[in-house]
Amino acid sequence: MKVAVVGYGTIGKRVADAVAAQDDMKLVGVFKTTPDYGAILAARRGYRIYAPDDRRENFRKAGVEVWGGLADLISEADIVVDATPDGVGAENKGLYVKAGRPAIFQGGEEADVAEVSFNALANFESAVGKRFVRVVSCNTTGISRVLSALRLNGLGIRKARIFIARRGADPREYKKGPINDVVPNPATIPSHHGPDAKTVLGDVDIVTVAVAVPVTIMHMHMAYIELDDTPSRERVIDALASTPRILLFDVKAGYNSLAQIVEWARDMGRPRGDIWEVAVISDSVTVNGRELYLMYGVHQEAVVVPENIDAIRAVGRLADKWTSIEKTDKALGIIA
Ligand code: NAD
Repeated sequence: MKVAVVGYGTIGKRVADAVAAQDDMKLVGVFKTTPDYGAILAARRGYRIYAPDDRRENFRKAGVEVWGGLADLISEADIVVDATPDGVGAENKGLYVKAGRPAIFQGGEEADVAEVSFNALANFESAVGKRFVRVVSCNTTGISRVLSALRLNGLGIRKARIFIARRGADPREYKKGPINDVVPNPATIPSHHGPDAKTVLGDVDIVTVAVAVPVTIMHMHMAYIELDDTPSRERVIDALASTPRILLFDVKAGYNSLAQIVEWARDMGRPRGDIWEVAVISDSVTVNGRELYLMYGVHQEAVVVPENIDAIRAVGRLADKWTSIEKTDKALGIIA
């Protein structure tokens, strides 16, 4: 399947690399609006760069060859992954409709940009054969994976209350904050993450509360989940450990903080230090009757990347849910 990536920032460049790593997909090119270091490095990776017609000269001056404009890129692809800033995907949608190409949008778009919102563990099947699919945001992906892990292992959920410490900015976003504050983000409750999780999990009683903190590395979620049953702690740990894209990190092994989990990823030689999995602090998993408590980190830059690959396979009917998840994870080096 020939894939175009439109919007080559934090998410787009990672999705482009992930597409290039699959044996059933081919990256036809990426659309860049500015001839910055991102464009130069993408060209150096061998990716074909497409750019707005009126900026081609700027790209040429920067030494970046341009293969065409946005319409050219869309027409050369079987499917588009749109990873542009919040709201731009909805503006671009008309181009995809006009060209008759399916598209995958990101979580910064409103849910109604697509026919279905997507998380591979939660609702892969709902996206099969659809034309427009939206991969939910990083925080919603984290929530969806943890709650799906419980459900897939027979642990029914009565309600979930999830408190989120959101990273203030991505590492390269030098103008964002806060730098010395804790900001209710949003101040209203529930934050949008709970309602968003329902777009992939269906009917679940969930409330989320979020603050932004002066951190760039990861989000941290503190979850309180009320279960239908009273499982042992071991059963919950087994459920999390046996679910793809969830990893357990033990304080006793030295993982005292998210920074040390990030260090693990860097020491593992992962590209950009990416953590595609939800990182559960295993010591935090506490069961008290029906009450389950846990804390987990979500690497906002990486966690949605495998979901985009599975969304492409669902739309293209390239594989079933578990085959796709396994294939994606193997190609990326995600730990089974
Ligand atoms: P980003 O700003 O890092 O990247 C967006 C890229 O699109 C930039 O390179 C920008 O120059 C380019 N762009 C701007 N206008 C464009 C246009 N009209 N056409 C083509 N390209 C254009 O943004 P991001 O963080 O990668 O976010 C992309 C999407 O992914 C958003 O919906 C966001 O909500 C979602 N998302 C972001 C994160 C995260 O933490 N960064 C996590 C999950 C989902």
